Amino acid sequence: MPTELNKILNFIDGQFDGPVGGKYLDNIEPATGQPYSQVPDSDSRDVDQAVAAAEKAFPEWSGTSTAERSRVLLRIADLIERDLEKFARAESVDTGKPLSLARSLDIPRASSNFRFFATAILHTENEAHVMDGVAFNYTLRQPRGVVGLISPWNLPLYLLSWKIAPAIAVGNTAVAKPSELTPMTAFLLCEICREAGLPNGVLNIVHGTGPNVGSAITAHPKVGTISFTGGTVTGRKVAEAGAPLFKKISLELGGKNPNIIFADANLDAAIVGSLRSSFANQGQVCLCGSRVFVERSAYDEFVRRFVEKTAQLQLGDPLESTTDQGAIVSRTQLEKVKFYVGLAREEGGKITVGGSAPPPPNDRCRDGFFFPPTVITGLPVASRVNREEIFGPVITITPFESEEEVIGYANDNEYGLASSVWTQNLNRAHRVAEQIHTGTVWVNCWLVRDLRVPFGGMKQSGVGREGGNEALHFFTEAKNICIAK
Ligand code: NAD
Repeated sequence: MPTELNKILNFIDGQFDGPVGGKYLDNIEPATGQPYSQVPDSDSRDVDQAVAAAEKAFPEWSGTSTAERSRVLLRIADLIERDLEKFARAESVDTGKPLSLARSLDIPRASSNFRFFATAILHTENEAHVMDGVAFNYTLRQPRGVVGLISPWNLPLYLLSWKIAPAIAVGNTAVAKPSELTPMTAFLLCEICREAGLPNGVLNIVHGTGPNVGSAITAHPKVGTISFTGGTVTGRKVAEAGAPLFKKISLELGGKNPNIIFADANLDAAIVGSLRSSFANQGQVCLCGSRVFVERSAYDEFVRRFVEKTAQLQLGDPLESTTDQGAIVSRTQLEKVKFYVGLAREEGGKITVGGSAPPPPNDRCRDGFFFPPTVITGLPVASRVNREEIFGPVITITPFESEEEVIGYANDNEYGLASSVWTQNLNRAHRVAEQIHTGTVWVNCWLVRDLRVPFGGMKQSGVGREGGNEALHFFTEAKNICIAK
């Protein structure tokens, strides 16, 4: 383990090293509120080194056969699976999420990302267009060079690998920055990349803050392609930095996702599904359905049963196997959650369950960042709490009278990431799904992910699509070659 006094290190040109400026930030464990390691507080000098290493590695890696690139990525997937327990524990300690969730969802999905793109590149097709008697065109898709990859804290390894895997699979080299709040799994991934035989400089990871490292990546003239996942406010800064240089940018941003339950839904399934979509990962999944709308005739029953189930969720030490709800990622995020619950009271909402910080689950966690799953009813649809992204275990439930009304509620928001619709009426499912302005609409399910489908947001939830061919196309430049007959 290449740690130095419990320090996480940057990974540049295949080597682990501290930041040029020698500064570190404390890495806090959310469940205890205490620092448990240190993360480099890097700056533009480290980014310059990483870009230089990526640039140097590009000619050889982009010229490496597809079969060999595939083989290395498959090996990375194997090694993540071999070290699943180590990764899951690191992810749980770093983020505060239940170990059971990291073990069953985050880490397996990270290895799936590598496996998926490792095999996808073996099966791509090249388009050809023949012009009668004139010419023959074919499309060559070539890697774009050095790409910048920036990710948030909520699903750290899963979201970073969702970028790294397609980027390097098609022959790019990368400079990646995980969130400074959750750097540990990216650090462990570097070791695995070395062991898997990924050549030096193909993947470089620079740790540090957004203003110091993230903006140095987005502004770097040699990084022409940026894939960013994070908040909408930060996404705007990334877009502004890239626009004058005409960078190719993909933005996966925030959400305030509607979860619509019609009276004809299978209520048992809708309650179980909504419990997950409301509170998975303490509500810190960009796809969480934080605005629940229930048809009036089912409203009372839904609220009663949903609140009953919410109260049964076990909040506890993330490392305990009985825990359903762990800690919030940081003190700042906890304060934000508390602010919005206070605002909900001011805006006339009723806190039906949760709403105030619980006693610590055990002595180890006495200073941890905990907040219970919270359900708010009675808020106007236009209230701030119903419009703004909270990104925590807080949801609102609002009744509606008709299909038309709820479609209006769903779409009356600046975000458009994802939605869920619960109904047993097939025609209604299609009709409503077509009219909702979100990049994904789940019908009678939530968070079902097929890696081949386009993924991304409408409106202020993002620009561009990731997943399957969309990602392979994003990370390549399409060139038309026209040969006269
Ligand atoms: P954030 O925007 O604060 O940070 C995201 C990343 O950007 C971090 O690595 C951060 O250090 C970096 N960053 C900050 N300032 C930067 C700058 N000026 N230039 C470049 N990089 C900068 O987001 P967060 O708080 O880490 O994550 C939560 C947000 O992410 C929520 O809004 C959530 O909805 C969103 N999210 C979206 C998706 C999606 O797929 N659409 C997935 C997960 C999370």
